[in-house]
Amino acid sequence: MRGCVNFVHLSTGGGVSTESVPSDRSVRHAARMARKKALVDAAIAAARDERGLLLVITGNGKGKSTSAFGMVARALGHGMKVGVVQFIKSRTDTGEEAFLGRQPGVEWHVTGDGFTWDTQNREQDIATAERGWVIAARMLADPSFNLVVLDELTYLLSYGYLDSDVVLDALAHRPAMQHVVVTGRAATDALIELADTVSVIADEKHAFRAGVKAQPGIDL
Ligand code: ATP
Ligand code: MG
Repeated sequence: MRGCVNFVHLSTGGGVSTESVPSDRSVRHAARMARKKALVDAAIAAARDERGLLLVITGNGKGKSTSAFGMVARALGHGMKVGVVQFIKSRTDTGEEAFLGRQPGVEWHVTGDGFTWDTQNREQDIATAERGWVIAARMLADPSFNLVVLDELTYLLSYGYLDSDVVLDALAHRPAMQHVVVTGRAATDALIELADTVSVIADEKHAFRAGVKAQPGIDL
């Protein structure tokens, strides 16, 4: 057995007996884990609230939108109703839309016109953002949506395409049990302040910088 030392004794009768005695390290490990379990159990017992959460997944690293889509899969596994609004991006050939977007219980909208450096047209970007926001605002007012994903919404706030107060007010006053996930780089301080859970994904390395083009199944 791992973590145990096997001692071999010569018994008085001349035979050989083997017994397993935990090593000092195993004993210390068991004691440390017992203390840790008591702390974890106490923390779990103390967490009694149940309410809709606002999550923000931001930062320059890869994994923001895919994290949100992972939560879509989880929610669907629980039979929950999910709304997804993809701002900014215009492509409708992604694996997430092809698979998750056609699951029963999902309403999926791609509302973008492309990246700001593609459109190069602030007025057009604002008009597109507002059209997407109408859909998002409807979902945020509808308690039948258990989870709403607002993919790349952060840019609409950081570029000032949408009125931050209007967006934050809709998020703050959404149905009490509704979960919302907002993704995108450079989340504003006000959005982070309002959120319950915030993850900042760091950009340590990305294959794109080594010349690898976007890969289906990984990047789209
Ligand atoms: P994903 O959709 O893969 O979770 P993301 O939502 O974190 O990525 P976005 O800023 O929305 O990141 O960019 C989406 C696309 O750009 C994906 O194809 C992703 O692989 C790629 N990407 C993300 N981060 C980087 C990066 N730091 N450098 C280059 N490409 C990136
Ligand atoms: Mg993204």
